[in-house]
Amino acid sequence: MKQRQCVSCGAPAGMQPFNNRSELIDYKHLLRQVDGLDGWECQACGEIEFDAASAERYASAGDQLLEDCRQFMASEMKRIRRKLHLSQKDAVRLLSGGGHNAFSRYERGEVAPPQPLFMLMRLLDRHPELMAEVHALSAQQAPAATDSEPQQPRLATS
Ligand SMILES: [Zn+2]
Repeated sequence: MKQRQCVSCGAPAGMQPFNNRSELIDYKHLLRQVDGLDGWECQACGEIEFDAASAERYASAGDQLLEDCRQFMASEMKRIRRKLHLSQKDAVRLLSGGGHNAFSRYERGEVAPPQPLFMLMRLLDRHPELMAEVHALSAQQAPAATDSEPQQPRLATS
């Protein structure tokens, strides 16, 4: 049986071969299983080293998962925005701030939306009635620091 020294912990015959193993890759709650992986595992420290072909398959499965996640977030951003009857411009003004084309970039998958924004969109997806609150809060956002200059009462003209 083949054995090798572990490059991680130095155990002299630590690395032992394994075949046809399945690994689960987890990225932001998306899972992808990769089967038939061959490589070496250290019996002392658990270090794993895939054979070249397996390492390549494992890495490309990870890349694909990342890409799928990006596409999923992009399409969710678009679907939810439309469900809320917002233009991209309104969505920026009311929800995200930032550049005027921020939403268009999120929806094309050019950049991932910031996590709090994505969470907000998902909340609004579940509770679209809260858009009324969003509109109300956003109308209030005018500076509130006018305490020192009390507003002149309007003269009644009737
Ligand atoms: Zn080791």
